[in-house]
Amino acid sequence: MPYNKLIFDYHKKGRGCSDINITRELPNKLVSLLRKNELDLPDVSELDVVRHYTALSRKNFGVETNFYPLGSCTMKYNPKINEKIASFDAFNVHPETPNYLVQGKLGILFEMSHFLEKITGFPYFSFSPFAGAHGELTGLMIIKKYFEVKKQKRNKIIVPDSAHGTNPASAALAGFEIIQIKSNERGQIDLETLKSVLKKDVAGIMLTNPNTTGVFEEEILEISTLVHANGSLLYYDGANLNAILGVIRPSDMGFDVMHINLHKTFSTPHGGGGPGSGVVGVRDFLKDYLPAPVVVKTNDTYCFSTPKKTIGSVSHFFGNFLVVIKAYAYILSLGNKIDYVGKLAVLNSRYLKEGLKDYFIDPLADVPCLHEFVFNGLKNNPNEIRTLDVAKKLLDYGYHAPTIYFPLVFHEAMMIEPTESENVETLDEFRDSLIEVAKLAVSDPDSLKNAPLTREIKRPDEVLAARKPILTYK
Ligand SMILES: *Cc1c(COP(=O)(O)O)cnc(C)c1O
Repeated sequence: MPYNKLIFDYHKKGRGCSDINITRELPNKLVSLLRKNELDLPDVSELDVVRHYTALSRKNFGVETNFYPLGSCTMKYNPKINEKIASFDAFNVHPETPNYLVQGKLGILFEMSHFLEKITGFPYFSFSPFAGAHGELTGLMIIKKYFEVKKQKRNKIIVPDSAHGTNPASAALAGFEIIQIKSNERGQIDLETLKSVLKKDVAGIMLTNPNTTGVFEEEILEISTLVHANGSLLYYDGANLNAILGVIRPSDMGFDVMHINLHKTFSTPHGGGGPGSGVVGVRDFLKDYLPAPVVVKTNDTYCFSTPKKTIGSVSHFFGNFLVVIKAYAYILSLGNKIDYVGKLAVLNSRYLKEGLKDYFIDPLADVPCLHEFVFNGLKNNPNEIRTLDVAKKLLDYGYHAPTIYFPLVFHEAMMIEPTESENVETLDEFRDSLIEVAKLAVSDPDSLKNAPLTREIKRPDEVLAARKPILTYK
């Protein structure tokens, strides 16, 4: 079947379906009170509909079709039970429903806050932000307001060069100037460099730990001591929480504010733009700055509350409530076993890295990786094969490509994050495929340079596709 056909292209006057759900009758009846003209739906046979959508679904790539080792994104499997629970009618409530009718839902948010406190050490959470980047912006607005209230002029944020692009972007959007610092040869913050930029106008530093090279910042306690001694705060980008889940807590490393990408660590399908949830956690002294509303409990009753010095609202009510429900279901269904998530994610990542190290350049060979790792091109590479070619060739093997050319600190970066969901057989198969690709790079370089050979789309102009997307059908 041609992949670029729309359902409208199958239209033949008089054709129809027997299933009430996919016939034109029903939608027309439902909207007939409002519509002046009949809804413009195609006349299609049931078989055409079924074939069309089955074919479309097969063109989709997801964790459920094959291994998805996209570094930094934590593409773990999302258990179906989370979806089931989130789809309960009871959770489908209007945001303006009075408190006394939604006590159970508010109770879940309240309880979720406690779960997240156990995991991160932060006692107060806001569920408003829609994504990690939105959580960063919220956290930085909290830091900004905190210093404004304290009447301290601090308008700079330190961001390491390995940071996710959203970090400097969020800091800029919150009105800060960015000081970028270079990582050392161990892929970590250099204490001397940090000291040299820590001036009185610095509001804080944004870090993720393990950082985006998959390496744990070994000197995090020295870093947090230095930053606090300067009167500045530490922001934890929680996108890599999966690596340390059940092992250590960001609050123990000295951080003051953090966001969690619930959609990454706590298993909500993501990619393609959401919906996500970037809940923000803070230490006690920052709780009055959280966005409104927050849930509080008085005399066994839950209600909305507006924190005293709140930065205002950053979304409608509690953000993507159903993503919180999915995360809640995930945490409850794992129970104490959640302590293994981080360990297994790290084990899988180290196993894969070990199996590939003879074929790819490991720029951080003597530093152990955590939940993900970065290679910097092929070891044996007489034909000048680039990481892009390796990634494109992997598509021919049916895999989603790893993250490439990020983090920016390595020129031929390829970032692999297997997650804890994968079993050893899958890791072995992927390793073998990648080794085969590495060998082809020497014996048959054209098969990489022209890859993918088996996909409908070969190598689109990615810049043009992003800048001038064609979003309508002609
Ligand atoms: C994914 C990610 C973000 C941004 O999170 P979104 O939910 O995509 O907005 C920030 N930092 C790191 C390290 C990430 O991996």
